[in-house]
Amino acid sequence: MLAVTEEMRTVMDFARKVLEGDGLGPDACDFMFGNPQETPLRGLVDALIRHVEPQDVHWFGYKKYEAPARESVARSLSQARSRHYKPDDIAITAGGFGAIAAALLAVLEVGDQVIYPRPGWFAYGAQIRGAAGTPIAVDLAPGTYDLDLERIEAAITGRTRVVVVNTPHNPTGRIFPRAQLDALADKLAAASERFGKVIYLLADEPYARLVFDGHAHISPAESYPHTLIAYSFGKTLLAPGERLGWLALGADMPEADRIRLREAVDMAQVSHGWAFAGRTLQRALPDLEKLSIDVAALARRRDRMVEGLRAAGYDLPVPEGTFYLIPRSPIPDDMAFAARLATDGVWVLPGSVAQLPGRLRISLTANDDMVERSLPVFARAIGEVAG
Ligand code: PMP
Repeated sequence: MLAVTEEMRTVMDFARKVLEGDGLGPDACDFMFGNPQETPLRGLVDALIRHVEPQDVHWFGYKKYEAPARESVARSLSQARSRHYKPDDIAITAGGFGAIAAALLAVLEVGDQVIYPRPGWFAYGAQIRGAAGTPIAVDLAPGTYDLDLERIEAAITGRTRVVVVNTPHNPTGRIFPRAQLDALADKLAAASERFGKVIYLLADEPYARLVFDGHAHISPAESYPHTLIAYSFGKTLLAPGERLGWLALGADMPEADRIRLREAVDMAQVSHGWAFAGRTLQRALPDLEKLSIDVAALARRRDRMVEGLRAAGYDLPVPEGTFYLIPRSPIPDDMAFAARLATDGVWVLPGSVAQLPGRLRISLTANDDMVERSLPVFARAIGEVAG
């Protein structure tokens, strides 16, 4: 856990500093960690209430999986991906964290290397260390944030067991095109052959349903058979504190491999604290599958914020998916600039905390009122450092 602590140090230090201060204050505009700033979806609340009421004495007894939950995920995955996913190949987990942990624990030997994207979600390094693996960060292509296939290939060794692909990508909002995923698949197949063992692809897809402008989510599972897909309901329902997600074994994975991995994934969940999602959430899952935050409203919020920030002089790409914006910090020291914004009650994640030095990460889970109140602050702060 000391190694895990090292991986989490930057983000934990930042969070501690923020929370230890005077707090955010009642009028703060919180764009930091993707926490909801609006009333939860009524459909989510209703589903939980509906399924919590016991109908027999075994209602809250130990059980790994509710069959309808696995069936529901298998059905919607099969529809979305045009392949046949089997309920037995779906593990219901404590969110995306749980899905990633189960995948890594299932396939890693102690010290195996796991390649993951930089910039990227801040917990990959910690989760890899937590599964006794060795994290190997590989940069995305500068500027475009595409997969850098040459860099990934150069990073693969005889100890590489997993390559993580997060699409749509936190924090850049990039959806990697099919051609890149196909090319990566070719490289992983060749390297697996060369080293005489399977290199798995972990497709981390919690933002699969948060895509804009008619973009389609493209899963690496369609390009590479040895793929495990991790999903979280935390984003689509904007309720990350209710821990529900799943891990799916790729539909094209050879059956013998799937049979071995099913057991490994279950044992990963058992050995790491009976980490299966709780029964009420599992029972509610088929109802929750049909629910989502209003993606059109999220897209409008994105557009308003992009337009407002650009008008003030900020340089930022338009994300294809997720709920993040990554404007360039007007001064190289993103920590200092984030601290300046915070003096006026606007709290963003400094890019240095998200492996994106020189930028800021703005989470659009803030509400529209916060967006409107923050824009004059962003404009004032860039004005102070301009020229
Ligand atoms: N993967 C990525 C890329 C994420 O951004 C997150 C959450 N920020 C997770 C996994 C974990 O999701 P959850 O907290 O819902 O388990």
